[in-house]
Order: sequence, then structure tokens, then C-alpha cells
Amino acid sequence: MARVNENYSNLKQSYLFKDIATKVAAYKKANPDKKVISLGIGDVTLPLPEKVVEALKEASDEMGKADTFRGYAPDQGYDFLREKISEHYRKRNVNVDISEIFVSDGAKSDVGNITEIFSRDNMVMIPDPVYPVYMDTNVMDGRKIIFADANKENNFLAMPDGRHADMIYLCSPNNPCGSVYSKEQLRKWVDYALDNKAVILFDAAYEAFITNDTLPRSIFEIEGAEKCAIEFCSFSKLAGFTGTRCAYTVIKKDLMLERFSLHDMWVRRQSTKLNGVSYVIQRAAEAVFTDEGMEQCKKNIKYYLDNAKLISALLKEKGIYHTGGTNSPYIWMNCPSNMKSWEFFDLLLNKTSVVGTPGSGFGMNGEGYFRLTSFGSRDNTIEAVERIRRVL
Ligand code: PLP
Repeated sequence: MARVNENYSNLKQSYLFKDIATKVAAYKKANPDKKVISLGIGDVTLPLPEKVVEALKEASDEMGKADTFRGYAPDQGYDFLREKISEHYRKRNVNVDISEIFVSDGAKSDVGNITEIFSRDNMVMIPDPVYPVYMDTNVMDGRKIIFADANKENNFLAMPDGRHADMIYLCSPNNPCGSVYSKEQLRKWVDYALDNKAVILFDAAYEAFITNDTLPRSIFEIEGAEKCAIEFCSFSKLAGFTGTRCAYTVIKKDLMLERFSLHDMWVRRQSTKLNGVSYVIQRAAEAVFTDEGMEQCKKNIKYYLDNAKLISALLKEKGIYHTGGTNSPYIWMNCPSNMKSWEFFDLLLNKTSVVGTPGSGFGMNGEGYFRLTSFGSRDNTIEAVERIRRVL
């Protein structure tokens, strides 16, 4: 008899976004005249930059002509794109060879798939609260998980606490907390990983939101990380590719576990299970790195960051503890009057018709916190801030 992977029965059902949708639908039905504004959006809302759209059209035309048509793309990505990614790192004095770059359809897929090259016996450390994919992908594989506390004391930046782990997930800028590790803090994690012969899985999906030049945008800005870290990056938030799909993962050739090269294992894994990313999409991603393309991306990111500033300014004015709001599209706030996350959700919805995301949905340490995002329109953000002001 065929058997299933029973680890799936250990997955906790995630009701977070379903429960939010149900409550919002009921509220709208009962209050048809009220305009509901969502500051819970985790997806980008601005359209693709013009330069990217031009590249998409040009590449599509090429695919329709016999002499420029392309079939399967190289497993690791076209050199034209990997060269641009390598140059992107070089601008921050990080040396990444194109052979160390793996282009894919998304950071989520790579973060999920990477577990395949690790033993199921590894102990996994995941910050709490954090992006739920790290936990679920390891539960699916049956690995043991311990949580590193992120809380008010460490400004929602979990740090090593003496316990051993073999695989460590870090996300900076963080989803949902908006917090960003400093170089000194990442130095501590890299030292910890080297001491423990552990591997850091560093999710830099939001690196483009970092405007403070002293903050690291890549774990490879820390010496020694090439021997203990894998980095995941994405065009989703940098260039609005959430629906277009393109990302990249960097595994340096120096990363060895005993006699095994994780780089070579990932080459083997990708060439066996992935037939590359569409030529058209890789040309679109390449356009992000043109001067004009990058300027257009930065303009969009500034738009979101300006929204974030408006939300953050209100919380500062009201003396409410929060993280994020700068160098990140997320604002992670303490619920007022010791309210629990869902209590504050209900209050906001019922009194202001504004929707956010209860922090308790991201982990135990998220209880009493609330995530607001800057991915809405400027007008809606301004209106939502005014409405929230009335209840704080
Ligand atoms: N990593 C983090 C922390 C995210 O929040 C998200 C998406 O919201 C992703 C990865 C997914 O990135 P991609 O769209 O490239 O799959």
C-alpha cells in the first residue's frame, strides 16, 4: 500500500488570512456604506516598471521569430542576467561569481526546496515571529525545530542564545517585524554558525528597501559568511515581480559540510528538477539592472517607504512602540492598552474600517502585536492613518 508523508499531519492549519477575509466579508456585508481600507496587504500594488514591460515585449517578439526563438533556458539562468546580479553584488563590494548564482521562479520555492539537500536529522532554529514558510517546509520534512525569541528586548531581532542548531533561518529586513540586522549583529550569527558548523539560510527578499547604507543588504557583506550561509533574493519586492516570478539564490563554492559542496549539490538538484526560468522573464529581470530600470524600481520603493513613514510617524506621535517603517515596507506595532492581536484587529475594523494583520498569526511572540504594511495607495494610507489616530 502506498504511504503518504505523515509529517503533513503535523502542519498547523494556518487560518490567519482566511479568518481575516471572513471577518472583513462579514463587516462589509453589515456595513455596505463603509469604505474598508487594507493596511494588511503583503503584495506589491504598483505596476511593473516601464523598462521591465519594454523588455518583456521585446523578448516576447524574439520568441515569435525563428532566428531569435529560444527553447529550454540554462538550469542556473542565462549568463546575461547572472552577470548583472554579480555586478549588483560587486557594487556593495561583495564578490559573487556567476557560477554561484541560481536563477529561479521565486524565493519561496528556493527557501522551500533547499531543505532537500539537508539531512532530516538537523536541528532547525527559526526566529519567532517570522515568515511561516521556514517552519512549514521543515515540518513537512519532519525536522526538529527550536525557536529563537524575537521580542521587545532585542527589538524583534533574534540573536544566538547558546543553544545549538544546524540550520538557522534569518530574514532581514524581517517579515513581519520590519526589523533589520546591523553588521555587528550578523557578525554574531556568522560566528555562531561557524562555531556550530551550522548553515544560515538568509532571506534577503526585502533588501531593496534598505536605504541606510550602514546596514547590510547581504549576509555576504560579513566575512566568513561564504563558508556558512546561503542567500535568497527576489525580484518580487525590488521590481514588483510577485506575479511575474523571478528570484535568485547564491551559494558560494566555499560552503562545505564535511566533504560535501552544497553548491555542487544544489547544481545537481536544480538541473534534475528545474528546467530553467523563461527567457522572457529573465530579460525582464535583466532590465531591472539598467540605469533607467533601477531608477524606476527605486521610485516605487520610495513610494512604499513614504507610506511607511506616515504610519510610523503616527505611532511615534502616540508613543507606541514599533519596529520597521524605515528600511522596510512593514510596521510592527505593539497593540495599545495591552490588547491582544485579534482584539486590536476587531477594534480597528469595527471602529475605523481599517484592516491589518494580527501579529499572533506569525508566532507565539507575535501575540499583542500587529502588522501594518505600506503596500497600499498613498491616499488610502493617509486616510487610514487619520482613522487610526482616532482610536489610539
Ligand atoms: N521571503 C519573504 C520573507 C517573503 O515575505 C516573501 C513574500 O512575501 C518571499 C520570500 C517570497 O518571495 P518570492 O515572491 O520571490 O517567492
